[in-house]
Amino acid sequence: MDMTLPRRRFDTLIIGAGGAGLNAALQLADSGLRVAVVSKVFPTRSHTVAAQGGVNAALANVLPDSWHWHMYDTVKGSDFLGDQDAIEFMCREAIPTVYELEHAGVPFSRLDNGKIYQRAFGGQNQDFGGPQAARTCAAADRTGHAVLHALYQQNIRAKTHFFDEYFAIDLLRDEEGVALGALVLEIESGDTLVIEAKTTLIATGGCGQVFRTTSNARINTGDGMAMALRAGIPLQDMEFFQFHPTGIAGKGKLITEAVRGEGGYLINGNGERFMERYAPTARDLASRDLVARAIVTEINEGRGCGINKDYVLLRVDHLGEEIIAKRLPGIRESARIFAGLDPALEPIPVFPTAHYSMGGIPTDRFGRVVVPAGEGAEEVVPGLYAAGECACASVHGANRLGGNSLLDILVFGRAAGKDIIDYIKENPHHRPLSEPSLERAVAHLDRWDHQPEKKPAGKGKAKPAAESSVRELREEFRKVMEDHAGVFRTPKSMAEGVKQLKAIRRKLRGLRLKDQSRVFNIARIEALELENMVDVGMAIAVSALGRKESRGAHSREDFPVRDDRQWMKHSLYFREKDRLEYKPVRSKPLTVKGFPPAERVY
Ligand SMILES: Cc1cc2nc3c(=O)[nH]c(=O)nc-3n(C[C@H](O)[C@H](O)[C@H](O)COP(=O)(O)OP(=O)(O)OC[C@H]3O[C@@H](n4cnc5c(N)ncnc54)[C@H](O)[C@@H]3O)c2cc1C
Repeated sequence: MDMTLPRRRFDTLIIGAGGAGLNAALQLADSGLRVAVVSKVFPTRSHTVAAQGGVNAALANVLPDSWHWHMYDTVKGSDFLGDQDAIEFMCREAIPTVYELEHAGVPFSRLDNGKIYQRAFGGQNQDFGGPQAARTCAAADRTGHAVLHALYQQNIRAKTHFFDEYFAIDLLRDEEGVALGALVLEIESGDTLVIEAKTTLIATGGCGQVFRTTSNARINTGDGMAMALRAGIPLQDMEFFQFHPTGIAGKGKLITEAVRGEGGYLINGNGERFMERYAPTARDLASRDLVARAIVTEINEGRGCGINKDYVLLRVDHLGEEIIAKRLPGIRESARIFAGLDPALEPIPVFPTAHYSMGGIPTDRFGRVVVPAGEGAEEVVPGLYAAGECACASVHGANRLGGNSLLDILVFGRAAGKDIIDYIKENPHHRPLSEPSLERAVAHLDRWDHQPEKKPAGKGKAKPAAESSVRELREEFRKVMEDHAGVFRTPKSMAEGVKQLKAIRRKLRGLRLKDQSRVFNIARIEALELENMVDVGMAIAVSALGRKESRGAHSREDFPVRDDRQWMKHSLYFREKDRLEYKPVRSKPLTVKGFPPAERVY
């Protein structure tokens, strides 16, 4: 094995150039550190660019508001599984974070008085569960686009070093487990590079591609989560996956909640506004888990729309041409392209779509990765950070509120950046890489080098599945996830899902790339991504089977109610032996009184 790979040294490495990675990079580069940012796509193509609705902050520009009400809504939205210290921190930091973005050049929509426009979103209330609030700061329905471009430009100014279209393979560490960078692959040339750094931040975004129908981009394959798993780090709360209520039926493409925030509403096959029955007060703006379940229930009970009665309709035509053109131009475009209709004239057919991972790499509120250290204790993995959708801080608990993810990535990206600055002050020197750690990473990549004749590396009976290509296996896998880990879960179906995933994992071990794939590295990248997705899919399925209650997005037919006595705890899934552990929820906030679990009504 060739261990004389080219090496580059930076003070700090960030894997991922979405909102989380770029906001961290900006803090670091502005403080004078040498920052490397690796991204498998050009930075402004990261999924953050697709965020439509906006970012939450209690600015009180449209209606009265306070960070404390925002905190209450987030705790309640999380179905009381979120850590309240992290939630308090995020809701307070929201306000300066949005002003910082404004100063960085984000062109927010404006009110007539010049202040930032704020729209109503689901699960937002005034006064601890009172009247609807308007907390979501928006740049029309293209907020993520505006945020990502502003942050990218600021990073160019600050001289952040970008490795565009480089694919991170695995984390590198020293003998004591300190994180020291990553092995990366230049996609165009296929050349490998070792990036050595004093700290490493994983900011690789979500994993929505594990489901067949999803709002997520093709690149959201959970790579960073899988890298953590391979490094022996568990993933937290993976059973909680958010299905957004309004994907375009059959396509999955997202229609933002902002549509309902602006006054759009859902109707079933009988033309009824069915949300009135499920959430008498908040109706269409109840939290996402509730609205998604209501849609599926309507359809299961025969009240869907269309010939097959397999979707419901989202009406906006009553809002009028002007509001649609001004506040929802992107949605109109999506509906035209993906559903072939103009929402100003006709309702949009919708069905829940896999959208967001509440779970991820466990961190504290400084973005530091924390792992169990025996007997209920926890320890920080030195030099390793995670932020954004790949991380679990945990502010979303069992269900995330709309507009809280852009907030999460910005607040915790920035917090991680600040903590890294302090860490590097105390640990100013590079440390030697452990050779075994590098060898493991290289072997992981070499596994997909094009060696058609070699015997499969997998143990036991695994045969090379000649006829089953990486792409076919990927589609098989995504269908298993959709069928066995969706909106409603039964024990039988979940157990069957885990069984089928194990079979897919075995098949994958036997798979090799054909020689001609050398032409491009795309085949290699797709294989690496599939490996990552299968690891993350298994984390979701095993964690779901383990949690014997219904809470937030996790809804089981055999345990239909929330069980606070047994289950006020986070799950931790370890890749080795598909093992689960649990740890208690941190229900004590930083300065205010905590919100104890209560019934969640909207
Ligand atoms: C359609 C859509 C609309 C949304 N709307 C909203 C909204 O209105 N409000 C809200 O709050 N949230 C919204 N969300 C959620 C939110 O946008 C995301 O959770 C958030 O943007 C994720 O940001 P991130 O920085 O964690 O990751 P991303 O923006 O996904 O970036 C991930 C980065 O990691 C890089 N990467 C990944 N793997 C590798 C690898 N192996 N090697 C190198 N680089 C890698 C990618 O290239 C990319 O740069 C929406 C999500 C979707 C899908």
